[in-house]
Formats: sequence, structure tokens, C-alpha cells
Amino acid sequence: LVVLGIETSCDDTAAAVVRGNGEILSQVVSSQADLLAKYGGVAPKMAEEAHSQVIDQVVQEALDKANLTATNLSAVAVTIGPGLSLCLRVGVRKARKLAGSFNLPIIGIHHMEAHALVARLIERELQFPFMALLISGGHNLLILAHDLGHYIQLGTTIDDAIGEAYDKTAKWLGLDMSRSGGPALEELAREGDAESIKFSTPMKQHKDCNFSYAGLKTQVRLAIESKNINAEIPISSASSQDRRSRADIAASFQRVAVLHLEERCDRAIEWARKIEPSIKHLVVSGGVASNQYVRARLDHVVTKNSLQLVCPPPKLCTDNGVMVAWTGIEHFCMGRFDPPPPADEHEDYMYDLRPRWPLGEEFAEGRSEAR
Ligand code: ATP
Ligand code: FE
Repeated sequence: LVVLGIETSCDDTAAAVVRGNGEILSQVVSSQADLLAKYGGVAPKMAEEAHSQVIDQVVQEALDKANLTATNLSAVAVTIGPGLSLCLRVGVRKARKLAGSFNLPIIGIHHMEAHALVARLIERELQFPFMALLISGGHNLLILAHDLGHYIQLGTTIDDAIGEAYDKTAKWLGLDMSRSGGPALEELAREGDAESIKFSTPMKQHKDCNFSYAGLKTQVRLAIESKNINAEIPISSASSQDRRSRADIAASFQRVAVLHLEERCDRAIEWARKIEPSIKHLVVSGGVASNQYVRARLDHVVTKNSLQLVCPPPKLCTDNGVMVAWTGIEHFCMGRFDPPPPADEHEDYMYDLRPRWPLGEEFAEGRSEAR
């Protein structure tokens, strides 16, 4: 079994080839970070164009690096949501074209399920049921994974995701945004004093597993203004005193942003154990999970609760094709796939795209537990 995975839900164009036994034969990611830095965010039309420009090349490179041609594939897996529909469309069109031409089954993938399940590729001991904290640019989810395709949402964000808060803070601190803001902020935070500014932890009074990062963003913005930090002056040109105060804000922000994750995970583990006493693992995945401080703090939470942490290597935490191919393999093995599309399918065909697509159902008892 050999599956090609294609991912275009946001700003990265990615493809990978993975074997049924989990062997990664190739992985290719083409990032739009330079566009993001220039325009300060993802503009759907521009992102669509960028995907369209590189998609053929990215897929071809994934096949070449795997030393395969499309005829050797067993199936094509592609992200169909959630994400920007203009962007999703580029990946789905490519996947269907390839699948139609080579008579291959096609598997539509949930982007956040893929972020979670890639942990099963790297940790073979990881069996259902398990818990997952999925932290990225657009999502902040606490999930109980019962079984393949069967998820309960214990918590989600009521406003922004943590990755968005990292990106905005990085921008306001004048960090180099030519890659995403998260890694640059993590680096600067190492120089700072995390106790220097006492930001308040979000949602202390809410005894549930939801998240909020909008208030913390506002606190950070106010701190930046009060210290007269000018984002127009890049950190590389800042005076040493200015650099020091930026680093202090970065470290203080990071401490509280992650403390919020820790507190919610603690409670979610308690909730999850009531439903599934046998859980042994907490998976932490999504772009922000590549952060070393985040990993260390969550490792502490997990150990305290006698669980094991499973955190994919950074390259598999941020958007990638491997997670899509692997999730495709998991579904394919359970007989969940669509037949090959017609080879002459028209470009205007209405694809099954799911730009808004919740992962699993909400934990209904959560509301009463929270009281
Ligand atoms: P989603 O998965 O919600 O659709 P996405 O696919 O755009 O969003 P990912 O690639 O999964 O996002 O994650 C990107 C996010 O992860 C960005 O917000 C980025 O700043 C953040 N990120 C990446 N590396 C780090 C890091 N080392 N520290 C903090 N944040 C990071
Ligand atoms: Fe993602």
C-alpha cells in the first residue's frame, strides 16, 4: 500500500508519499511565508494563486523523491477541510485529476484529524482511545479520540487560536516574519524574563476546557504600547535596552499563553478519564507543538497525570503532506474511500469541500461539568 497525500488548506503547499507500514518515502513543502510577511496575513486569492503555481511541481517532486510514478500508487489522499475553500480547491482538483488519470481511489481528509493521527505514525504504541491537544494558527482543540473517525471535542477556542496570538505578538515586537512568527518569538523569549510582566491567565473563572487568546493579545498590545516599542524598527536594529524589553514581553506572553494550555489540559484529562478511564496518551500536535517550551511544559502536565506525551517531530507538527497520506492510509485500511473520479471530469465540477468542518461532536456533559 502506497498513498500520496496532498495538503493545500492554508498557506503551505505540501505533498508526501507514505507506505502502509508508515515508511515515509518523500515529503515536500512549499511555503508562502514570504507572501505572508509581505501582506501581513493570508489573502485567499493570493494564496490560491501561489498554490496553483507550485502544486504540479510539489506533487511531481514528491513522486520523484519516492522513486515512483503515479502508476505505483494505491490511492490519493487530500485535505478537503477545514480551511480556505479557494485553497482547498487547488489540492482537490490536482488529487482528482491524478486519481482520474490513473484510476486511483481518493480519500478526503480532515486537516485537524490528520494533525492528530500523524502521531500514530511516529508512535506505534499509540492506540485508541487517546487525548489530543491540537494547537495551530486557526485551531485550539482538546479532543478525546475514541476510535478512527470518532472524536469528542472537550474544548475549543471561543476567539483566537494560540498560533494566531504568537503570530500577532511577533509582528508587534518587530520580529522577522519571513518564516511564521511562532519560531521567531520562541527564540526571542529565551533571552527574556518570563516573570517580568504579570499578564493574567485567560478564563480563570470558567471551569471548562475552552480557550481564549483575544484578551491576552490585548494585554500584550497594551504592554508594547506602554514600553514605546516600535514594530517598524526591526528587532535586529533595536538598542540593547529595547531588545531586552521586547524579550521580556515575549517571554511573559509565552509563559501565560502556555500556562493556559496547561490548565485546560489538566481539566480535560480529568473529564476524559470519566468517559474513557483507559486513556494512556496525550498527543500534542499542530504548528505550535513544534515549540520546545510548549513541549516541555506539557510533558510536565502529562507526567503529573501519569500519562505519556506523544509529540510528533516539528516537521510533522506544522502543515505537511505526510499527515494527510497517513490519515488516508488509516481510512483506506478501514474501507473508507471514494471510487476513482472520471478521467474527463470538468474543471468546474463541484467538489466536496468542507471549509468549516468540526472534528467530532461537542462533549455535552461539559456544560454541566463546568458549573
Ligand atoms: P490550522 O492547522 O489551524 O488550519 P495552519 O494549518 O495554518 O492552521 P499550522 O501549520 O498547523 O497552521 O501551524 C502554524 C502555526 O504554528 C502558526 O501560527 C505558527 O506561528 C505556529 N508555530 C510554528 N512554529 C512555532 C513555534 N516554534 N512556536 C510557536 N508557534 C509556532
Ligand atoms: Fe495545520
